[in-house]
Amino acid sequence: MEWKIENSKLVYGIGKKDLSYLDINSEGQLELILGDGRISFEDILDSVDKNTEYCDASFALRIPQLITKQIKKLIRSFKLAREEFHYKGAYEPIYPIKVNHSPFVIETIIKAHPTYGFESGTKSEFCLIKEALKDEKHRLIMCNGGKDREFLKSINDAIKEGYNVCISIESEQELIDALDILPREGYQLAFRIKPYVTLHGHWGASSSRNSKFGLAIGELNNVIKILQENKATHLITTLHAHPGSQLTVLDDFVEYATFMAKIYRLLYDNGMENLKAINFGGGMPIDYDNRLDEKFMEKYARIFVEVLSKELKKHQPIIMTESGRAITALSTIIIVKTIDKYAVFPDGYFDKEIMESISKESDPFKDAKSASEVLKKWKAWEKRKIPFKDLQEFNDYEYITKQLKAFLREKFYSFKDFTKHLDDPLTTALLKPEYTIQGNFSVFNSICDLVLIKQYFPTIPINNLHVQPETIVRLLDITCDSDGEVAIYNAPISKEKLYTKDHFLLTYERPYSLGGFPVGDMDEFKDSYFVVPLAGAYQDIIEFDHNLLGDLPDIVISFDGKEWQTALVNGAQTISSILADVGYVIEIKDDPYFDQDE
Ligand code: PLP
Repeated sequence: MEWKIENSKLVYGIGKKDLSYLDINSEGQLELILGDGRISFEDILDSVDKNTEYCDASFALRIPQLITKQIKKLIRSFKLAREEFHYKGAYEPIYPIKVNHSPFVIETIIKAHPTYGFESGTKSEFCLIKEALKDEKHRLIMCNGGKDREFLKSINDAIKEGYNVCISIESEQELIDALDILPREGYQLAFRIKPYVTLHGHWGASSSRNSKFGLAIGELNNVIKILQENKATHLITTLHAHPGSQLTVLDDFVEYATFMAKIYRLLYDNGMENLKAINFGGGMPIDYDNRLDEKFMEKYARIFVEVLSKELKKHQPIIMTESGRAITALSTIIIVKTIDKYAVFPDGYFDKEIMESISKESDPFKDAKSASEVLKKWKAWEKRKIPFKDLQEFNDYEYITKQLKAFLREKFYSFKDFTKHLDDPLTTALLKPEYTIQGNFSVFNSICDLVLIKQYFPTIPINNLHVQPETIVRLLDITCDSDGEVAIYNAPISKEKLYTKDHFLLTYERPYSLGGFPVGDMDEFKDSYFVVPLAGAYQDIIEFDHNLLGDLPDIVISFDGKEWQTALVNGAQTISSILADVGYVIEIKDDPYFDQDE
């Protein structure tokens, strides 16, 4: 078939939605777009080569301008919705630093918006925010998470130093301690409640009465009583909950917003005279597999504003959200240097006669009249005993197996009933990638959610995007762990059917996945690069140092309207520093860890 660059854009999700900052040039190279500037990843690598010592390694590409872009998009979405519904309350965004604590993220957010607030979930995070905001004390610090007396005393110190603090009350004891330690003015309190709604997705469990966080209704009533007894209801300004991360069903937000609005009204009517804000927490998703509504963020904002406009006509609260994933995910691209490639099947045969005889034996296995019959034939072939007379025969048998498999694969997709069998383990075996590529990185360190929660990360070659993909591959990392691989491709939903040259179906009208992602030209991959975008949320902090493999170097890239700049901000984590983390102080020759200390 004639392959167009548009086909590759569809296959990899490039140029749209949360990958709108990527494009493909006429030579089939992947490009990064920031503002009016565009640069190919080949040129980025050249620049990194010139400006840093990390010319031939994997690295994390950090892109602060994409954080700013997301912030602008979020704020604009709420602005448009508030204008549409003539909503009187303001919109005040808050950044939950747990999602990415890196200085480049925090500094970019501070620069991007004069009143962006910050959320801490622990005392350590609170200390980090305090330091980051020492010249920006007007910004709201939302103090979430369990707080013991020591933590409350630190918060008290911050209040005395002039920080703008809102403390979420998460239990009765916490409130009793807070009222004991803190004064009766100079800060705000929030009720953090359990969102009594059932939502979809991995973190949907953060919602409902069984949620890990927040006050249940009985506890909320007790906390109100304690506040009334202590004449402290005036401190309550905010109703807060967090419905879970990566919520991909828009209607879930309608249910959630309606619940929060109803509780807000009840609290207001119940004497919380200074109540002025609803903090809806996080939930705004990232479109990792190109399957979300194109205008998701706009619709998300519109839902909150519309629901509050209807439910709270008289007293319209400030709307706060704590989006972290949606703000930061785009800002990191993992650039994976490939080391080697491997083929599951032999490239050729040794002996014409052996080959011809096995080939003849395979003929009856080719005759199938439905997708289920194809699978039965494939099963029958795989049940045969591999001939072990000599290595040549074994080789030639595997060579024929590869030909037969490609033939059956093409046939399988040609029958309409193939969709009924997509979950069948036989289908998984028939559609298994036949090539693997090794990358110089650790999945556990750079994209740990892939292993932890089976999070999908698109993976894209940096060139040959103008040709029909030759095949699909698994990208192996260098850990000694078989979970350490990128072996999933979520096909884009499309009526147009696109295939690799060896007959793997790459697009389909319904959600469908393969155990490997497409690549243009296999010959290129001994010494090339892949990019794994959307790795800026959570991955840096949840990471594992499995097999003592540490952090990749961090390279920041920016475009100032005229020129592109790349700069090294952190070198790769040294072997000595990783060994020190696990309790071994070992001086390794030429290791910069020791030089730094001197
Ligand atoms: N707010 C709170 C209280 C959270 O616990 C979290 C994440 O767990 C967030 C916000 C961030 O949510 P998201 O990942 O949807 O940005």
